[in-house]
Formats: sequence, C-alpha cells, structure tokens
Amino acid sequence: MGAYRAPLRDIEFLLQNVFQAEKIFSAMPETAEVTDDLSSAILEEAGKIAEQLLSPINQTGDQEACRLENGNVITPEGFKEAYAAYVEGGWPSLTGDVKYGGQGMPKVLSAMIEEMFFGANSSFCLYTILTTGATLTLSNHASEELKKAYLPKMLAGTWAGTMCLTEPHAGTDLGIINTKAVPNAAGSYDISGTKIFITAGDHDLAENIIHLVLAKLPDAPAGPRGISLFLVPKILVNDDGSLGGSNNVNTGSIEHKMGIKASATCVLNFENSQGLLVGELNSGLSNLFTMMNYERLSMGLQGNGLAESSYQLASDYAKERLQGRAATGPEFAGKPADPILVHPDVRRMLLTMRVNTLAGRALSLYSAFQLDIVRFHPDEAARKKASQLVSLLIPVQKAYCTDRGFESCVLGQQVLGGHGYIAEWGLEQNVRDARISQIYEGANGIQALDLMGRKTVRANGELLDILKEEIDEFMARHQDSADMKEGLLKLNAIVDELSVVTKDVISIAKENPNEIGAASYPYMELMGLTLFCFMWQRIIAAALEAKDENEGSDDYLDGLLNSGEFFMSRLLPKSRALVAEIRAGAGSLMAMTAQQF
Ligand SMILES: Cc1cc2nc3c(=O)[nH]c(=O)nc-3n(C[C@H](O)[C@H](O)[C@H](O)COP(=O)(O)OP(=O)(O)OC[C@H]3O[C@@H](n4cnc5c(N)ncnc54)[C@H](O)[C@@H]3O)c2cc1C
Repeated sequence: MGAYRAPLRDIEFLLQNVFQAEKIFSAMPETAEVTDDLSSAILEEAGKIAEQLLSPINQTGDQEACRLENGNVITPEGFKEAYAAYVEGGWPSLTGDVKYGGQGMPKVLSAMIEEMFFGANSSFCLYTILTTGATLTLSNHASEELKKAYLPKMLAGTWAGTMCLTEPHAGTDLGIINTKAVPNAAGSYDISGTKIFITAGDHDLAENIIHLVLAKLPDAPAGPRGISLFLVPKILVNDDGSLGGSNNVNTGSIEHKMGIKASATCVLNFENSQGLLVGELNSGLSNLFTMMNYERLSMGLQGNGLAESSYQLASDYAKERLQGRAATGPEFAGKPADPILVHPDVRRMLLTMRVNTLAGRALSLYSAFQLDIVRFHPDEAARKKASQLVSLLIPVQKAYCTDRGFESCVLGQQVLGGHGYIAEWGLEQNVRDARISQIYEGANGIQALDLMGRKTVRANGELLDILKEEIDEFMARHQDSADMKEGLLKLNAIVDELSVVTKDVISIAKENPNEIGAASYPYMELMGLTLFCFMWQRIIAAALEAKDENEGSDDYLDGLLNSGEFFMSRLLPKSRALVAEIRAGAGSLMAMTAQQF
C-alpha cells in the first residue's frame, strides 16, 4: 500500500489564493495573528503526523481491529503511541476555548488537519473528532462549574469524549429514545438505558471517557421536546479533579463492521450512572445542534480525505501500470506496453476524482470560514449572514462530499483493476472506510431532506438568496475577464436553473407534502453541483491571477486550469438530468403499493 502524502500545495493554494485567508482572519481580532506563515507551519506539522504516525498504522489497524477483553476495548497496536504523540503535540486543544486551555485557533485550520488525518487513518481520526465535538458542546452549553471541571482535561487529551444518541429502536428519530434520567438526592441524575453504535464508546487511549448522553426525564414531554443532555463520565470524577470509582457505564459489545475497524463502535449500557445536566432540561436536542454543524463538516472531510488518499494511490498506479497502447500509437515504444494513463477512460476516472476532491475541499473550507465568522466576527450582521450560510451549506457539504468521496474511492479501485480489489493495495480499505461517512451523523437522505424541507421550503428560499448574493458578487468582480467569460456564463446558467426549480418545488409542496421528500435527493445533488461549479470558478479565477503574477506558465497552475475545464465541460452538464429528476415529482414514487415492493 502506498503511503499517504499530505496535499499541502493544494491546501495552501485554496487558503491563500482562493480564499485569501489572511485577509479574513485579520478582520477578526481573535484570529488576527493567524497569518499565512503560521497556518502553513501548523499544517506542515500536522501533515507530518498524518504521513509519519497515522498512515503507517492504517492498514495494520484495519487488519487487527479493536477487540473487547473483559469489558474493555483494546485498540490495535500503535494506536496508543500515536495518540500519546498527538496529545504531546498539543493537537487536541487547537480550536478549544482559551479560557479552559484551548488555543482558540480557527476551524478552517482544524478542518484541513481533519481531512489529512482522515485520509491517512480514518479510524484514528474518529477518536480525536469525537472529543473535539464534545468539548465544543460543553463550551457552548455547560455551566461554568462543569466547564472548569471537565474542559481542561478534555482539551489536553487526557480525557476523551463521545456522543451517545442512538438506541436500538431510535436512530434518525431521536424523539422516541428510551434512556431515562431520574433526578436523585445528590442533585444529579441516575441515567439508565442502552445506547448502540457509539464511536469511541470505550478504548485504552485516554484515562477517562466523558459521554454526552441524550435521555428523558420520567415526566418529560413526548417527542424531541422532552430530550435532555447529560454528561456521564466513564469513571467518576472527585471534587478535586482526581478519578474516583466506576460509574456503571458498561461496554456490552463492539460491532463487527464493514470498515473503520480500528474505531471502536460500542454498545453501552448505563445502569443508574451519574449524569450531570448540560444546559437546560428538555433542550438537549437543540443544544446538540451547535455541535452537529461541526460534526457533519467532519464527515464531509472524511469523504474528502479518503478521496485524496485514493487519488494518490490510483494516479501513482496509472503512471506505472503498463497495459495496451495509446490509441494514437505507442508512447513508450521501448516498453512492452504504455502506462494506462494514456487511455482516455482512465483519465476520466482520475480527473473525476481530482476535480471532485479539490472542489469538495474548497466547499469544506468555504463552510469552515463561515463557522469561524460566526464564532469570531465582531460585526453582528456578518455573524448572522455566516450563520445562515452555514445552515444551507452544511447538509450539502456533508452529503455531497461523502457521496463524491465514496465514488472517488470506488473509481480509484477501478483504476487498479483486479488489484484494486486486493487488500494489500489499500483501495478496498478506503472503499470500506468511506462508506460509513454517507450513513452516520444523519444519513445522507436526511441531510437532503433537511436542505429541501427546513432550509429551503420552510425558509421560503431565503437562504439560497444569500448564497446567490455571494455568487453574484463573485461574478461581478470577474465579469471583465475574457478568460472567465464562458465559465461564468455556465455558472450563471446553473444558478438560474437552481433558482427556478427551487421556486417550483416550494410552490408544488403546498399542494402535496410528499413533493419535498421526492425532490430532496436530486435537489441536494443539484445544489452540490452548483456549489462545486462556484468553487471551480473561484479556483480558476485564482489560478489565472497567479499566472498573471508569475508572468508565465506554471505546471501546477496549468494543471488546475485543465482540471477546471474537465469539470465544466464533462461533469457540470449532469445538472440537466438532476433538474429533470426533480421535476418528475412524487407520482411514480408514491404510486407503488407496499405489496408491489
Ligand atoms: C459505525 C457507526 C458509528 C456510529 N457512531 C455513532 C455515535 O458515535 N453516536 C451515535 O449516537 N450514533 C452513532 N451512529 C449511529 C448513526 O448515526 C445512525 O446509524 C444513523 O443516524 C442512522 O440511524 P439508523 O441506523 O437508526 O437508521 P434509520 O433511522 O432506521 O434509517 C434507515 C433509513 O431510512 C431513512 N429514513 C429514516 N427516517 C426517514 C425520514 N423521516 N424521511 C426519509 N428517510 C428516512 C434513512 O435516511 C436511512 O436511509 C453510528 C453508526 C455506525 C454504523
């Protein structure tokens, strides 16, 4: 299996040339010191961890997998050492609240680090992002007392975190969970119930695990409005911060699953475990939404990371593997055959991977910038606009980047032919590891429904209008560029198509509520394609500007322009099929009787 290489050149081009990160950060006092040089230095160090520490234990971790011994999860060989080095380097605290030991760095940087870690070793990365997510929830909703008691150790990586939502009968529909929280004389709550599929629910990497658990009080309102959030440590924490006894959180089993085998997916049984309320009673679900945008962004980054890793393996292979001759005559006459890179269809696969990975990374960065503006910007209007954009972008980033990520892994496998199906090359592991990103943190169908229902129909298209303002502003800035003219016309056309079809779905949904669910998936894909087109136009504009500044040809920039042309001419036209699918409506979906399935 080839070793993962941190794609620092691409990341820096996006940060510095496409998004002009330094300019955005300098407008916010708390991020003003995040210069391009500082970002590059941090990303370079993170890249070394991905390449030297995480990539080497990726395949062995998959083969060995986690195991349960006497109720405790044991991670594969090398994970403990890698986690210790990750902690030693101060990485868990990167974006955390400075008041509790965090470094207060922007999400934009940690997003790129997550992408690299996911690409190098998805299982390992999951242990880290769950803790980051839990600390974020506590920072936003816990009492000062809880923050002081738990955040410093979690931000130091000494204690890890989890999210315990899912139950055997309740996944998407959390309103029907059964886990109970009964108030006790000590002022805390006795938590009892079974949670399943809990990532990092138990492991041997940290001294303690802090579970964030959704549960209901006996007299809570029915449905999602009766859910509260509790902090439930695996090991009780004494008043002085030292560890006490067991809190009756038991790992019933770990799942044997398709991929991410070195990530422990646990069944957790809570038996009168001590729970401390986080935020207000019955506001558990809405509190979790703070974190949901970050967690969903991470899943999109998992898709991107594995797509990048697959692209690296497949493009290396395509340059080496000799099969057949170029249609125009031998290119390597002295060799028995030409490398498969000469074949247009192999190029189609590689370019599809390349352009979607780069656009996915750009969309992830665009979303992460909005999260940073919401967190750091001094101007309320700027924060509000960014928050609205986050609402619209995140479900698309999650679903579209994970779908494209999985597709890239499969395409990479195809480039290797039969060897792609064989374990030693690593592509089949990427396919297995990427698949879960389309399912957890809200299955992609649910992301599409969120986009179409809550973010579009219920918002009467207003969030899309905000995105359109951004796109219009970009187009106005580049309207005089002859090199951009054709691309901007195509961008304008797809935005128009999206706007018209949005209005039509909003209108038809008033007559038949099933039209929302029927339109949702192709609508999410159309929005994803539109955003990728916007990202590609931004990349092309930045590449042209950089070429002007360099006054000459540059192989890297020319490669970007060629890739952009491939996206615009060969992938963008898929929008027409999506529009037709949306317009086909709910009729054929709902006509079938249950018996006919
Ligand atoms: C490896 C792994 C790790 C996980 N990690 C965690 C974790 O750390 N913490 C945690 O709490 N959970 C975790 N999960 C659970 C995961 O988030 C859920 O599996 C996921 O949200 C889907 O829930 P479900 O499996 O119950 O599917 P269901 O909710 O039963 O859904 C089944 C299908 O029906 C569709 N569907 C459901 N309702 C609707 C609707 N209203 N409209 C349209 N379509 C609908 C879904 O899109 C899906 O395709 C993990 C799962 C796995 C496999």
